[in-house]
Amino acid sequence: MSKTFNAFEMAQKQFDDVAEILSLDEATRDLLRTPIREYHFSIPIKMDDGTSKVFKGYRCQHNDARGPGKGGIRFHPQETIDTVRALSMWMTWKCAVVDIPLGGSKGGVICDPHNLSEREQEQICRGWVRQIARDVGPLRDIPAPDVMTNAQHMLWMLDEYETIHGAQYPGMITGKPVGMGGSLGRTEATGYGVIFTVREALKEMNIKPEETTASVQGFGNVAQYAIQLYNQLGGKVICVSCWDQADNKSYSFKKDSGVKIKELLEITDRFGGIDKNKAKEMGYEILEGGDWIKQDVDILIPAALENQITKETAALISSKVKIIAEGANGPTTPEADEIIKSKKIHLIPDFLANAGGVTCSYFEQVQCNMNYYWEKDEVFGKLDVKMTSAYLDVSKLARDKKLFMRDAAYVISINKVAQASKDRGWI
Ligand code: NAD
Repeated sequence: MSKTFNAFEMAQKQFDDVAEILSLDEATRDLLRTPIREYHFSIPIKMDDGTSKVFKGYRCQHNDARGPGKGGIRFHPQETIDTVRALSMWMTWKCAVVDIPLGGSKGGVICDPHNLSEREQEQICRGWVRQIARDVGPLRDIPAPDVMTNAQHMLWMLDEYETIHGAQYPGMITGKPVGMGGSLGRTEATGYGVIFTVREALKEMNIKPEETTASVQGFGNVAQYAIQLYNQLGGKVICVSCWDQADNKSYSFKKDSGVKIKELLEITDRFGGIDKNKAKEMGYEILEGGDWIKQDVDILIPAALENQITKETAALISSKVKIIAEGANGPTTPEADEIIKSKKIHLIPDFLANAGGVTCSYFEQVQCNMNYYWEKDEVFGKLDVKMTSAYLDVSKLARDKKLFMRDAAYVISINKVAQASKDRGWI
C-alpha cells in the first residue's frame, strides 16, 4: 500500500531531502520547514435562508525574507490547515525559482461554492478580509485567486480591505478583473507558463511539439489554457479528466483525434466540470477518472489537485511518457517520484511549471503601482522570458549536478531564501 502523505508532510519531506543535499544548518532547517506565521479564524455569515453559519478560514505566511508574502485563497470543502501550510511553503519556492521579489503565503476557507449563492460567497470574502485586514496588504502579504475563487471574489476582498483602511490599495490583492486593477493575461498565465516550460523541455530533447500527444488531469483554469497553447504549438491532447459534482466522482474524456477545446468549453461549467452526457453525444469516450494517467502519450499534465500521482498510479504510466509537467500544486507523492525517476521521465516540478500565475500576479502588482497597464502581448512576452530562463536554470543545474529536476529546482529556491534570511540577520 502506498503511504498517504498529507500535503504538508510531502512539502516537508521534499524540503528535508534537499536540506541534506545542501547540508543546511539546524536553524535554517527549523526556519524554512514551517510557516513563520499562521492565522486561524472563524467567519460568521448570515445565509440567504436567514440562518447563521460559521466558516473556518486560514492564512499561512511561510517566509517573507525576499519580499511580501504572495499566494492564493482556496475555497474547498476538504481544505485543511496542513494543505494551506504546504501551499504557502511551495509559494516561497515558486517566487524564488522565477526570481520575483516576493515570499510565500496561502489562504483558504473550508466551504463549497457549489452550494453557496453569490451573496453568501461575497459575505465569506468580506468576512475573510475582516479577520485579517491588518496582516495582509500590498507591503505585507498579497492574496490571489486559487481553486474555486475568481476575479469577482478578489474584487469583493479588495473592496472590504479598502473600506477598512479608508484608501485605494489596488496592490493589496491580484487576479482582479481587467479594468479594475487586473492585468491582461492573468487568466491564461498559469496554463501558458506550463507550456512555455514544456516547449523548452521538448527543445532540449530535440522533439517537435507537433509530433507529440498529451493527457491532462483537470479541465479548469490551468488545464484549459495549457491545452490551448499546447494546441497552438501543434500538440494534440487526447484525454482530459475532471470532477463530476452530480456523481461525486471524476471521469476522463478521450478522443484519439484530439480533444477540441472550443467544443468542450461549451459544455463545461464554471468549476471546470464537463457535462458527460453531452460529451458522449460529441463522440468522446467516457472513462474512469483515473484513466487519464494510463494513456499512451508523450506528456502528462496533472492540473487538478494535490496527491494524484501516487505509488499505485505512477506504476500505470505508459513507457511512452517522456515529460510530466505539474500544472497542479503537489500532484505527486515522494514515493511516486521514485517511480518517475526509475522510468527516466523528465519531470517539470510544480513550483517551476505553474509559476506563470504568480509571475503574472507580480506583473499585476507592478502595473498597479505604476497605474499604467500593459498590452497582453507585453505581458506574455515578459512571462515567456521569466519562465524560460527559470526552466533553463533548473534544467542546467539538474544536468550539471545529475539531480532530479524537482531537487534541482529546490536547490535553487532554498539557497535563495536561506541566503535572504541570513542576509537579514534572521539566522
Ligand atoms: P480550477 O478549480 O479552475 O480547476 C480544477 C479542475 O480540476 C476542474 O476541472 C475540476 O473538475 C478538476 N478536478 C477536481 N478534482 C478532480 C479529480 N479528483 N480528478 C480529476 N479532475 C479533478 O483550478 P485551477 O485554478 O485550474 O487549479 C488547478 C491546480 O493548479 C491546483 O492545484 C492549483 O493550486 C494549481 N495552480 C493554479 C494556479 C492558477 O493560477 N489558477 C496557479 C498555480 C497553481
